[in-house]
Formats: sequence, structure tokens, C-alpha cells
Amino acid sequence: MSNPIIVVHYHELWLKGRNRRFFLRKLHTALRIALQGIPVERIEQPGDRMVVWLGEGASLEEVTARLDRVMGVAFYAVARAVERNMDELCKAAWQEMEPLRFESFAVRAKRSDKRFQTTSLETEVIIGRHLLEKLRAENRNVRVRLNQPEMTCYVEITKSMALVYARKIQGAGGLPPNTAGRIMCLLSGGYDSAVAAYHMMKRGAHLSFVHFYGTGAKAGESSLHVAGGLARKLVPYQFHAKLYRVPFEAIQREIVRYAPEDYRVLLYRRMMLRIAESLARRDRSLALLTGDSLGQVASQTLRNLVAVDAASRMVVFRPLIGADKMDILATAKKIGTYDVSSEPFHDCCPVFLPKNPALYASAEDLAEAEAKLDVGALVAQGVRGATLMRYEYKGGEITEVETPIRRALTQERKAIA
Ligand code: ATP
Ligand code: MG
Repeated sequence: MSNPIIVVHYHELWLKGRNRRFFLRKLHTALRIALQGIPVERIEQPGDRMVVWLGEGASLEEVTARLDRVMGVAFYAVARAVERNMDELCKAAWQEMEPLRFESFAVRAKRSDKRFQTTSLETEVIIGRHLLEKLRAENRNVRVRLNQPEMTCYVEITKSMALVYARKIQGAGGLPPNTAGRIMCLLSGGYDSAVAAYHMMKRGAHLSFVHFYGTGAKAGESSLHVAGGLARKLVPYQFHAKLYRVPFEAIQREIVRYAPEDYRVLLYRRMMLRIAESLARRDRSLALLTGDSLGQVASQTLRNLVAVDAASRMVVFRPLIGADKMDILATAKKIGTYDVSSEPFHDCCPVFLPKNPALYASAEDLAEAEAKLDVGALVAQGVRGATLMRYEYKGGEITEVETPIRRALTQERKAIA
């Protein structure tokens, strides 16, 4: 038998309109990069699907693990490609279904080439009858059931070939990676911001990350390590990512020294947003992203969120604003960030935590509380102190390099020019 092939299906919704070719090209690229290092002969696009022809020695397990993280894939299947004639189709359908255990089944055929000899319905009936005969001949107690069958044999007839498969595997869904533009994500070491990042990547955004860290952590407990670990979990979805790391303790000390105690955490947040915004502009990110969820902690009352937000001129997206913690944790487990976020680390925010954090601040309160701070100088200090790690996912492996910020940005500008 020839090497297995993979048929990849995407949702049709994002294909409407002029962007169709752009999205398909991006999905094609994503498949190619995701499968790097695995023998692949070619990736074709017959009709409304993509077909990956695997090469000699490709491990299906590895292929599946890689494909599961390609955004934009609705579902995929390991399929048999055969010639477009009924005998071949029946034979392939039997090979596909024989090893599987079920009591009811159906055949679903789709014809993207209307010149094929039989209609979809006729094809279903012929193959269904063939399967039923073969199954009965083996004394298997099965029947055809068109409504909610236990097993379905799918047949797709394209202009160039026919595809047969029985086991659909659900894909990551969403839109193809890197199709929506760039966003700067404030990535803490906690569960929420990594999950927020995942949601936006799934909508096609390309994320850069910024993490604020304190000093004085015990060995092995730095939050830098955790932020890096999260970046490594997230980079396979978008193939490369930057992580800006900003030392924050000196800035916190200024806030502790010159601002009212109750507002400390909110003022930390405002400084984080401002520094993130400044980095975002250099990074050509168009918006900011946080993992805030309404009412989860004191700094996330509606009033506090609004008051913090006023410090940023850039739009701040908060995809988890209406999400429950249980759902967030379930997603964190699914995408593998849960274990990383569970590691103990030295979080900069609880440092100098006030006894009674304010619950209902207004933007005016916070602006007043900042009156004695040289906000511009503190932002500049944060930006100047930032270091940059770049992550790349290639051939199933992740590499990371520290790059001087200025060089990284010029390199990128050159690449775009
Ligand atoms: P998370 O689980 O993402 O840390 P949280 O529920 O603990 O969120 P907070 O700690 O109040 O809530 O943080 C709210 C948001 O502010 C985070 O989701 C993140 O986007 C941002 N943030 C908080 N601390 C940091 C940090 N040290 N570096 C970067 N961003 C941060
Ligand atoms: Mg947190």
C-alpha cells in the first residue's frame, strides 16, 4: 500500500469574500511548518480541502500531535486515496471499516465533481450495500442507520481523486495562524493570561509577550522561568514569538514610596499597561491583551478595570472577562500551560501588597494617586530595562535565543522591507 495521506478540512465561514486565497495560503504554510521534519511528499488543495501526502517513514502519531495544534483546521483524517471508480471505492471502504467495531453505520459521500458517474446518494447506497454484505458474510451483527450511526464511512470525490476514511479527528478550530495582525500580551505566570493568549491566537492574532518580574526570587523560583515556559507552550501555535522581559521591582518601589497604599496594585497595573503599550508600538502591535476576568480578584472589579484601562491609549483586549475560572483551567489543561502555571514562582504583584486594596477606584483617583510619580520617566526606565527572548518552533523543536532589542527590530524591519 502507498503511504497514508491526511485529508484536512477547514470551516467554510472564513472563506467568504476576497480573503479566501490569503487564508488558504496561510493555512497551507501553517501545515507545512507544523509538519517540518516529518517526511511529506506534497500538500495539495483539491477542492475545498487540503491533502497531505506523507512520505516514507512518517509517524502517524507524530503527525497527529503536530496537526492538533494547527489553528484553522476544523477536522482531519487519515484517509485512503483511490482512483475514481466504484470498485476501488468499495474496496477502500471495506479496508477502512473492517477493523473497526460498531453495530450501526452509514456511508456519507460528497462529490465536488458533478461529472462523476453516480450522484452522492447513489454512491452512498452502492458502497453501503457492499459494506453490509461483507459485514454480514463475517457474521457481524450490524445494520445501516442513517440517523446517528455509530460509525460513518466518509467518501469524498474530487476532480483528481477519491478519498475514503472513517475516523474523523477534531482539529484546533479557529482561523489560520498569523492572519489577524499583532497584539502585545501581558503574560504573567498565572493561568489566565496564557489562556487569553490562546484564545486570541485562535482568532488569527500573532502575539508578542511582555512579562514583568521582580527580583529577590529564590533559586529556581523566578517568574522569568515560568513566563519562558509558557511562551514555549504557546509558540507552536504561531511558530515564532517574542517575549519582552521587564524588571519591575524598582518601579514598584517608586509606587510604594510615593503613592497611597490602597492603590498600589492598580498603579502597578497602570504602569504595566503603559510600558507594554510603549513596547507594543516598537513591536508594531496594534493592541494589548490581558487575562483579566471580571470580579476574580480585587483589582478586577468593574470599576477598577475601567480605572486601570484609562492609563492606556491602546485598546486592551480581555477575552476572559466573562469566563469562569473552571473553564479557564480546563483550557489551560488542554493546551498544556496548566502545569507550567502551577509551578511555584515569585510573582512581583503581591510584593508590598496593601492590607486593604481599593475595590472601587476611578481613573481620577488613580491619576491623583500618581501625581508624585514621574510616570514618563518610569515608563522609559521599564522600556530601557527590557530584554528580549525570541522563540521559534521548527521541526517539532523549540529554540530560544536572547536578542538585543534594537537589533531584533531592525532585522525585522529589513525582513519586511
Ligand atoms: P493571571 O492568572 O493571568 O496572572 P490573575 O487572575 O492572577 O491573572 P492578576 O494577577 O490580577 O490576575 O493579573 C491580571 C492580568 O494582568 C494578567 O492576566 C496579566 O495579563 C497581567 N499581569 C499581571 N501580572 C503580570 C506580570 N507580572 N507580567 C505581565 N503581565 C501581568
Ligand atoms: Mg496573576
